[in-house]
Amino acid sequence: MKGLYIHIPFCVKKCKYCDFISFTAGDKEAYITALCRELDAYKGEEIDTVFIGGGTPTSLPNELIKRLFLHIRNTFTIKTDAEWSVEANPKTVDGEKLMLLRDLGANRISVGVQSFSDNELQKIGRVHTAKEAAETIELVKRYFDNVNLDLISALPEQSLSSFITTVDTAISLNPDHISCYSLILEEGTPLYNEHISSPLNIPDEETEREMYFKASEMLAKAGYNRYEISNFAKFGRECRHNLKYWHCDDYIGAGIAAHSLINGVRRENTTDMTEYMNGNYLKESVTLDISDKISEYIIMAFRLTEGISETKFQRKFGLNFKKEYNSQLARFEKLGLIEKTTIGYRLTDNGISVSNSVLCEFVCPIYEYFVKMVNYP
Ligand code: SF4
Repeated sequence: MKGLYIHIPFCVKKCKYCDFISFTAGDKEAYITALCRELDAYKGEEIDTVFIGGGTPTSLPNELIKRLFLHIRNTFTIKTDAEWSVEANPKTVDGEKLMLLRDLGANRISVGVQSFSDNELQKIGRVHTAKEAAETIELVKRYFDNVNLDLISALPEQSLSSFITTVDTAISLNPDHISCYSLILEEGTPLYNEHISSPLNIPDEETEREMYFKASEMLAKAGYNRYEISNFAKFGRECRHNLKYWHCDDYIGAGIAAHSLINGVRRENTTDMTEYMNGNYLKESVTLDISDKISEYIIMAFRLTEGISETKFQRKFGLNFKKEYNSQLARFEKLGLIEKTTIGYRLTDNGISVSNSVLCEFVCPIYEYFVKMVNYP
């Protein structure tokens, strides 16, 4: 069964590191109208996960949230136990909005916190303080029993000790799931430009690695299982929608800049708001050939702690994984970067540290595209 991703491209303020398609102004009502029109093409599709992301979906007024949710419900056949996630940012939710989301069917809220240091939050241009972020998590937990908290490591001015404090605070708030991605300085963002004109105090690679392993250790001790390189969950709280991406399952993406994967075809929507509003949704559509599919599968599966399943690989592609990649596997196993599991192969902790180089040896041509796709704090 497919997943559904909906992109809401509005934010209260643009964070300095952000290169997602999001705007601080625009006609939200007209956007929801265009989005609903796009969704009409999928009438009757069966879905078992919904992820409303952005942008900041909770920056929409309540009546537009209601309109969108009802349209999704009227368009798709949604499995009764579907996971329905909504991204939220501190200062964009109150009890009324959370109650509305819950009543409309949302059952998982993902809160963008990023750091519990006011200095770091201010450096990256977040709109909230650490205290407001913690209060938001507490508030969300009153209405939802499945809550994710997003963090970013390797921020400007962040030290190993301030990062440890952030992870500690996150754990003390007891969310069900924690995502922790490293900051990527994307060309063209205000933070990137600041860094070019006067280098920011950003943790070096070694410190970044230490942060990652320290977080993994602290989270494991607190009962969070690392099921994907950057994602940690309590038992049974893995994000089912994101697992569809990592398992290369089908999903429908709607909204400006959204991506879809349907029956071996990748579609990318336009990033131009005027085009989108005029109903010219699609920017590009690519039919994947077998080698694209294999590459995508390997990249995604190696991000998961379960790694590559040899049986699944054989079933999906009719190929023997070990035989196809014998030389890479032998070399990386010897170097301690890949290890054998009961079902196949996975990256070791050392392999995770150099995952870009390891994966490049398997699938170099399309790797960079995917690095960008899967790093989305
Ligand atoms: S990082 Fe998130 S909250 Fe900040 S501008 Fe980008 S989409 Fe909006």
